Amino acid sequence: MNRDTDFLVIGSGLAALSYALQVADVGRVIIVTKSSIDNANTRYAQGGIAAVVGGKEEQMESHIEDTMVCGSQQSDRDVVEMVVRGATNAIFNLSEWGVRFDMAECGEEYKLAREGGHSEHRILHHKDLTGFEIEHRLVEQVRKHPNIEVLEHHFAVDLLTQHHLGKLVKRSLPGTECYGAYVLDIVNKRVFTLRAKRTIVATGGIGNVYHTTTNPSIATGDGVAMVHRAKGHIVDMEFVQFHPTALYNPGERPSFLISEAVRGFGAVLRTQRGEEFMEKYHPMGSLAPRDVVARSIDNELKISGEEYVYLDITHKPAKEIIAHFPNIYEKCLTVGIDITKDMIPVQPAAHYLCGGVWVDKNSRSSIEQLYAIGEVARTGLHGANRLASNSLLEAVVFASAAARHSVIGLDSEVLPEIPDWDFRGTTNTEEMVLITQSIKEMQQFMSYYVGIVRSNIRLERALQRLQIIYEETEHLYRRNTISVPLCELRNMVEVSYLVIKQAMAQKHSIGLHYSIDLQ
Ligand SMILES: Cc1cc2nc3c(=O)[nH]c(=O)nc-3n(C[C@H](O)[C@H](O)[C@H](O)COP(=O)(O)OP(=O)(O)OC[C@H]3O[C@@H](n4cnc5c(N)ncnc54)[C@H](O)[C@@H]3O)c2cc1C
Repeated sequence: MNRDTDFLVIGSGLAALSYALQVADVGRVIIVTKSSIDNANTRYAQGGIAAVVGGKEEQMESHIEDTMVCGSQQSDRDVVEMVVRGATNAIFNLSEWGVRFDMAECGEEYKLAREGGHSEHRILHHKDLTGFEIEHRLVEQVRKHPNIEVLEHHFAVDLLTQHHLGKLVKRSLPGTECYGAYVLDIVNKRVFTLRAKRTIVATGGIGNVYHTTTNPSIATGDGVAMVHRAKGHIVDMEFVQFHPTALYNPGERPSFLISEAVRGFGAVLRTQRGEEFMEKYHPMGSLAPRDVVARSIDNELKISGEEYVYLDITHKPAKEIIAHFPNIYEKCLTVGIDITKDMIPVQPAAHYLCGGVWVDKNSRSSIEQLYAIGEVARTGLHGANRLASNSLLEAVVFASAAARHSVIGLDSEVLPEIPDWDFRGTTNTEEMVLITQSIKEMQQFMSYYVGIVRSNIRLERALQRLQIIYEETEHLYRRNTISVPLCELRNMVEVSYLVIKQAMAQKHSIGLHYSIDLQ
């Protein structure tokens, strides 16, 4: 049975839920989300949300400067200003929805933390479980709202445009319009047409394109791939952020994050032979910026052929370690590592996508009636590298901008008739191994050739390997009954292609794009 709505929101992380809550009094909202509602990157965020609340001009200027510096001056300054200055409103909204942030002893001010790249304490947090608290509270609000319907275990397959009316749609031509999406009901195994006056893509990141990632399994770049197939503009895909210190625990996905705060507390990085190596790469040693540390570890691993280095905090008093990092201590114990006595094996892991769907300051994509918010969107905030804890803030600020803009002119919208999903010729169900093996191969070469350190030959090799997987996947897609793993593989192939091609087009080593062949 096909459906119609005013607002179709794809995803159920912070960006999606905060948008839905802001438009639900104006029209009907349907949220489709491919897993359970709270299975999103948002839930995993530990550090917090960078925000100068009710701040003095000087403090906001400092947040703006830190963001610009971290982004290698490639950020759009207007956007940076908009996000930093939008923080007070964003935190007000979150608090109204019930999110609790830790307060200072006096009980009247927020307890603020500081992270790498920030020159001041400005991170609001809820213990080290900020994302969990945010997701949990917003889900409560969404569930209560009579105008919001949540379709869990529903997978958005493709966006609807004039292409589905038999018209030619080109990326180079303006005027493409979005009318909703084809949605796969995973439980009942059927695809239906969900027409919407406004479609909002809030599908999060792409971490699973890589072998090792801190992202949960939902992060397969579906939004980027869908918008690209619909002929929208995708930019800055070469800027993929790797977190330097994820726990090395083969077989565990997502990788558990060992927070930067551990290095801030005095932990040092060592090779497997116990030698400190960061002094060779940066005067700040183990406290060097995130991208430098990730590159240095990558280099050490390429030289040694090993899979991990060590993070050593054993020289600090056990009591203090446990008091500062109770979660990390507990987690490591579960895999047999007592961090007060043992060094922690770590390796870099894909963490965050700075590029994505091009949007303007109202979160509008290059396709009409289509908005993108959260990690899937490239707003211009992050430039060539993201400042820690800026992404949650960006998600809320741009969700509000989208909400304000997307309610305009809603009543006058008339949706065209869209043909039903065509099942013809798709009756096979081939072995899963054909899909899982392709995913593994792709993750391997993306990690080794298109990861932290790149070169012309590595990118060319990756493209050649991807071409083979692309052809095999398209063949499978045409012959097979639609399934989530197959759609995700197809999307990850599309996303990998964009990362490789946009990396190849970069003329400089800048921010997160580092090539040994470029200055
Ligand atoms: C371990 C970790 C720690 C982090 N710590 C911080 C931090 O401290 N501070 C900070 O600012 N940022 C942090 N980040 C980044 C931040 O959490 C994310 O960038 C942010 O939560 C993204 O929110 P989102 O709403 O855009 O997407 P997500 O929260 O990832 O939600 C995406 C949603 O889209 C759904 N979806 C995807 N594809 C489809 C599809 N085809 N059909 C239907 N639904 C779909 C998913 O199921 C999910 O519900 C961290 C990230 C990780 C992984």
